[in-house]
Amino acid sequence: MKTNEFRTHAHRVVDWMADYLESIETYPVKSTVSPGDIFIQIPDQPPENGEPVDQIMNDLDRIIMPGMTHWQSPNFFAYFPANSSYPSLLAEMITSCMGAQCMIWETSPAAAELEERMMNWLAGMIGLPQTFHGVIQDTASTSTLAALITAREKFTNYEINDQGFGNQPDFRVYCSTETHSSVEKAVKIAGFGKRNLVKIPVDREFRIVPENLEKTIMHDRKQGKVPLCVVATIGTTGTTSIDPLKEISDICKRHQLWLHVDAAMAGTALILPEYRWMIEGIELVDSFVFNPHKWMFTNFDCSAYFVRDPESLIRTFEILPEYLKTRTRGMVNDYRDWGIPLGRRFRALKLWFVIREFGVKGLQEKIRLHLALATKLKEMILGDQHVELMAPVPLNTVCFRIKPDGIEDEETINRYNEQLLQELNSSGKLYLTHTKLNGKYTLRMVIAQTNVTEQHVIRAWETIRAYAARITEQ
Ligand SMILES: *Cc1c(COP(=O)(O)O)cnc(C)c1O
Repeated sequence: MKTNEFRTHAHRVVDWMADYLESIETYPVKSTVSPGDIFIQIPDQPPENGEPVDQIMNDLDRIIMPGMTHWQSPNFFAYFPANSSYPSLLAEMITSCMGAQCMIWETSPAAAELEERMMNWLAGMIGLPQTFHGVIQDTASTSTLAALITAREKFTNYEINDQGFGNQPDFRVYCSTETHSSVEKAVKIAGFGKRNLVKIPVDREFRIVPENLEKTIMHDRKQGKVPLCVVATIGTTGTTSIDPLKEISDICKRHQLWLHVDAAMAGTALILPEYRWMIEGIELVDSFVFNPHKWMFTNFDCSAYFVRDPESLIRTFEILPEYLKTRTRGMVNDYRDWGIPLGRRFRALKLWFVIREFGVKGLQEKIRLHLALATKLKEMILGDQHVELMAPVPLNTVCFRIKPDGIEDEETINRYNEQLLQELNSSGKLYLTHTKLNGKYTLRMVIAQTNVTEQHVIRAWETIRAYAARITEQ
């Protein structure tokens, strides 16, 4: 492809993008294809000779698009969002175009310095103390893994990095039963062993019970285990419950444990000063992660990882082969030493575009709208005798189930709700996912998509009520 051809195709791709986003509500939100439908349409061998871009674009529309779920649809209420926005897309195109490897300062000084600035901006925007230093990771899972490995190394004076586990004792990591699965994954990868992840029960609002946490830590210590780290969650995946950080941080201080905070989705709400109560106790936190790639309108991937002591992070991950030695080492941030991968995309650029184009006020307005819409939905649910609110709504996620008249059997109610979810999602009108709360099948509606409005929420609610009525009348 020549440059002038690229120019023509690229303009058409941008038109394709604008058309797609403009008409996104005409697609079924959740793809309706069956397993293997796409696979059989792709030839089993690659083409011998190059093919025209027009043909590839046609196949994109014909083969690929039916197999896509539309995360940027304002009728997407599933999981947690993976939001995009126009400024983020612009930056992503430029990042792809330059294709820079931002592993160290020398390989693109602007990328390293913009990243440092953006992390400082973000820290200020969400109310982290100035003692925190940030770095962009790919995901919250990776950030949490980095936290656990750093905790491990700091605690053992970097001995496991050097010697391996040898005769090390059983290190214990604590979280709640509602904690995201990425913590268990990190515990496995960091070499602690899954049996050393201790899941503390939660209270009726799905928050960790600090007294139980402390008792378990003391009990473990008596048994010869070595308590190492607590992971607190701000905004759990099931219900967005908020662990009591102040009490947890006091416990960690008393017992000298590393405290990691997973605020993957909910961290964005901290842009609103009225939500900063969620991080009371933050001064004692060792590491904190939140994902602008979830609720902050910044394309996947972009996870903001903050640490109080960057030295221990760097000491844990640094490597220095001859070919990476530079004259600027020590004067600048070489982010390859702040995490696992060597190669890094220029991800700070999209943050810069998003934060500047929205402005802090613009971001706040959107987040406030989403939170207000969640409250509105909660109120509609509370006013409806056939629907049961299943968890408090501290943020943007509403958990509920339908409760048909005269039916008390939990299994039957579970089946009704499972069928309801299935039918709603196959309708293509909206997309919800579920969780189980105390054994009860619960629908989750997350109101956080970049372009969601009150109309979308009301229409979704009417659809849910209509489908529920149809099922219960059968
Ligand atoms: C989404 C989520 C994660 C995982 O995020 P990734 O960036 O996909 O790894 C972890 N913790 C919580 C609370 C989450 O909501």
